[in-house]
Amino acid sequence: MVIFKEVSAISHLVAGLQNKGLRCGFVPTMGALHEGHISLLRTAAGQTDKTICSIFVNPTQFNNQSDFDKYPQTIESDILQLEKAGCDILFLPDVHEMYPGGLSPTVNYPLGELETLLEGHYRPGHFQGVCQVVHRLLDIIHPDILFLGQKDFQQCKVIEKLIQLIGNKTRLVICPTKREPDGLAMSSRNLRLDSHQRVKATAIYRVLSQVIHQIKPGDTTQLTLDAGNQLRSEGFNVDYLEIADYNTLAPIRNWDGKSPAVALVAAYLGEIRLIDNLTFGRITE
Ligand code: AMP
Repeated sequence: MVIFKEVSAISHLVAGLQNKGLRCGFVPTMGALHEGHISLLRTAAGQTDKTICSIFVNPTQFNNQSDFDKYPQTIESDILQLEKAGCDILFLPDVHEMYPGGLSPTVNYPLGELETLLEGHYRPGHFQGVCQVVHRLLDIIHPDILFLGQKDFQQCKVIEKLIQLIGNKTRLVICPTKREPDGLAMSSRNLRLDSHQRVKATAIYRVLSQVIHQIKPGDTTQLTLDAGNQLRSEGFNVDYLEIADYNTLAPIRNWDGKSPAVALVAAYLGEIRLIDNLTFGRITE
């Protein structure tokens, strides 16, 4: 694996590979890598000729300074995992390389309701920061295919919209959520859970699974209220537990029994905020 820290060097290399007809797959991450990230890389390796991973803890997408300060950093283990997974190129920029003009945004991305719903509501500014960093990364790397995880469902929708807004040619592939054997979605933030919290955290997947198995056509309000309260009774501080339209993320209060939909949750265990989702209905993609 070749490691690049400079924008000009990686841009040059990727352009050269593409000129030779090689297709480049890109997996952007914030490090503290786990099997979820690695599964994206494996998918990328199966669909492209060269795989590129980036590790950059993007300050502009954190709306909470302490979450940023405490974001786990495990670069040596990350590099070993990437080597083992056969990643070809790692981009490891510092903040000056990513934001030579400073952190302040120069563009406001018109994301519409995606920016105010769910994560957008609870993390103001978060998706503008995500767009800022992904736009910059796409400009640097120009990948043929971008691989994202369904774990961050709303982020996938936001980046889909960003790609449209900036008229980028990159194709987006959304990969399934990798889970621990007990169902907990893998996440870098899981490293911050203590042993009791780690056991409790499994409730998120259990409750989401119940929701998608119990849902029937008609009013969904009671089901989501009960599911949120179940998590509260197990010690979570719940930001939201919602059923939403698969495409727009608009809330669904009355489900017709077939429309593609997603049940999403964000909840705190102590200081640690966990998110997860499960899709249901007739999803055609
Ligand atoms: P992050 O490092 O958290 O910014 O995540 C980088 C990429 O990995 C994003 O596209 C995430 O959606 C994806 N990802 C994170 N956790 C998982 C998981 N458990 N399964 C699949 N993809 C994941």
